[in-house]
Amino acid sequence: MANKILQQKTITTPKRKNIALVAHDNMKSALINWTETHKEKLVQHNLMATGTTGNLMQKHLDVPVKPLISGPLGGDQQLGGMIAEGKIDVLIFFWDPFEPMPHDPDIKALLRVAAVWNIPIACSVSSANFLVTSPLFESAFERQIPDYDKYLEERL
Ligand code: PGA
Repeated sequence: MANKILQQKTITTPKRKNIALVAHDNMKSALINWTETHKEKLVQHNLMATGTTGNLMQKHLDVPVKPLISGPLGGDQQLGGMIAEGKIDVLIFFWDPFEPMPHDPDIKALLRVAAVWNIPIACSVSSANFLVTSPLFESAFERQIPDYDKYLEERL
């Protein structure tokens, strides 16, 4: 792709969102506490999470969460693919700033692709609090995404 700056188009993210949650091992208790605090708002959406995070959420919170592949086994890449396919609208990702991870390239790739597709991302409790208390969390909102069809039109 020669031109790195793609034209953008506007899409509407629906009121009921697909929300992905991920927490590294040292951050799992923080994510469980956070999801417990905001459970009522979160259950208004479709929740999915990497394997261990998702199973812990189901066990501790009794909320329906679709568990995906565990992060170190490819779950971050799975999430990245889903974001590129438009299947995830919000990412809550409590990554561990103190520990190097064996799947560091996957984590970087996930954060990159989330930025490419301009989805809301929260990587800390306070940013997740901002996100969950935004009026946009409970309503449809418009966002800009790369317009690949336009790129092809001009390219071919
Ligand atoms: P996990 O994956 O929820 O399966 O632990 C998270 C991660 O380590 O990326």
